Amino acid sequence: MQWLPAVLTVAGLHEPSSETLMHAAIYAARPGTGAVFHGHSEEILGMTDLPVTKRERPYGTAVMANEVLDVLGGHSVVIMRNHGFVAVGRTMGEANGAVQTIDGAANERH
Ligand SMILES: [Zn+2]
Repeated sequence: MQWLPAVLTVAGLHEPSSETLMHAAIYAARPGTGAVFHGHSEEILGMTDLPVTKRERPYGTAVMANEVLDVLGGHSVVIMRNHGFVAVGRTMGEANGAVQTIDGAANERH
């Protein structure tokens, strides 16, 4: 799947995320998505039982967005190889909850 916006407009009180393209790509690809949560955690990066992008890609690019879409499918959390993670949910609470569950499992392994 290749996603590339013709025009992407964002508005708000703060600067948009450097991963705005990835967030927009996920909203476009997954109807019903109300929250996309991206972060960085060494513990989560080290988990081997989560879907992970095949290649490391430059952050903030449409190439990175498409790399994530390639493995997202119906998953709620995807590891961005050598970068971070992205969690998806209907609400911020749901996306955050998916990360908290995984983070708790990662911490139990230490
Ligand atoms: Zn990042």
